[in-house]
Amino acid sequence: MKKEFEEGEIKITIDYDKCNGSAECVNSCPVNIFSLDNGKAVASNLSECIECCVCVSVCPNGAIEHSSC
Ligand code: SF4
Ligand code: SF4
Repeated sequence: MKKEFEEGEIKITIDYDKCNGSAECVNSCPVNIFSLDNGKAVASNLSECIECCVCVSVCPNGAIEHSSC
């Protein structure tokens, strides 16, 4: 199951079949977009996103898609 988080022009899609709650995204995003909810990543405050694409590259399971990356 994929969950989409969208705000303005930014859309982040997280594939919950791939996300295992490893938290690399939580620990790596410079503006703290990600947190864990029941062992799965969730994204909030997308207007703060600086489109650096670190989240996409750091996820060990390829679970994150980003509209800018
Ligand atoms: S880095 Fe990937 S697998 Fe780990 S919590 Fe974030 S989305 Fe899930
Ligand atoms: S692109 Fe960069 S700022 Fe935006 S959510 Fe991913 S890691 Fe955070």
